[in-house]
Amino acid sequence: MAENQSFIIPMTKDRIRKEDKKILASKAVDVNQLIPIKYDWAWQYYLDGCANHWMPQEVSMQRDIEQWKDPMAFNDDERHLLKRNLGFFTTADTLVANNLVLAVYRYVTAPEVRQFLLRQAFEEAVHTHAYQYIPQSLGFDEGELYNMYREVPTLHAKAEFEASLTQDLLDPSLNPATLEGKQKLLRNLIGYYGVMEGLFFYGAFVMLLSFGRTNRLPGMCEQVQYILRDESMHLNFGLDLINAIKDENPELWTPEIQKEVTGWFENGVDLETAYTKECLPNGLLGLTHEMVAEYIRFIADRRLEKLGLKKLFNNAKNPFPWMSEQIDLRKEKNFFETRVTEYQTGGSLNWD
Ligand code: FE
Repeated sequence: MAENQSFIIPMTKDRIRKEDKKILASKAVDVNQLIPIKYDWAWQYYLDGCANHWMPQEVSMQRDIEQWKDPMAFNDDERHLLKRNLGFFTTADTLVANNLVLAVYRYVTAPEVRQFLLRQAFEEAVHTHAYQYIPQSLGFDEGELYNMYREVPTLHAKAEFEASLTQDLLDPSLNPATLEGKQKLLRNLIGYYGVMEGLFFYGAFVMLLSFGRTNRLPGMCEQVQYILRDESMHLNFGLDLINAIKDENPELWTPEIQKEVTGWFENGVDLETAYTKECLPNGLLGLTHEMVAEYIRFIADRRLEKLGLKKLFNNAKNPFPWMSEQIDLRKEKNFFETRVTEYQTGGSLNWD
């Protein structure tokens, strides 16, 4: 059992005070009391995440299926691009979910922060569901997609980098209550929220959403838009969490770790650039691999800035201003007008 939390519940009249709460505890603490809330920002992320609830099977794939069956509707390069990015996501959200539940959750001891981690873990399950539903609807070879992260070198390189950070935290001799444990957690969070959800996901989002910009695969694109909205919240929560941990534990944020994680962004951009080149060898859908690589450099600098680190690519520009509209997707969409109320009533139990 981790030494930063206790499941021995003593009889006592000593109540938990806000000041007793820590995001990462150094001694055993009570992890069961949400109230009093100390980290209001984390609770707000949880509420905002719940307000965005959606499920994949509520989005019709009918038009996508008709389009996909039409031999004239997609050329070979487009089919390859779609397959690669779906292949990436079939296992990417699962890697994130496993990392949250098996590695991160054990370290974070504030219940209100855990509340968002639980919500996020569920959203990763919804995304994994969407990336199962889309290829199944279109009749893809599922074995091929699910094994891409072991068979395609550019995809394997990304997955391996992330998985090694999870493996680091799973080491049974690592104690979450120690400086070493907390520092490894901080590295893990930057690798997952900053590089995986912050860089790798965005290259694939741009490539998938480009189909929608040519009026194709509307059901897939609608789901990817909801996923992008969820993911932009995961990203912002993650960077806020990392910064809050740095503020609470300044001793973790050494020049060595700053240098190391900055190097990951550099390396992450290289991995994503190689991946994009393989996905998109020829220009397509109004985008080229050079444009996607430029976008990745642009967002890498934004992530670094938010973490208080020096930018790497000062001159990078955003070639896809339309991506910010996608992220700011509002609930006015028909889907939500019809569905949100149904969640409220459809979820109520009938005892008759
Ligand atoms: Fe996520």
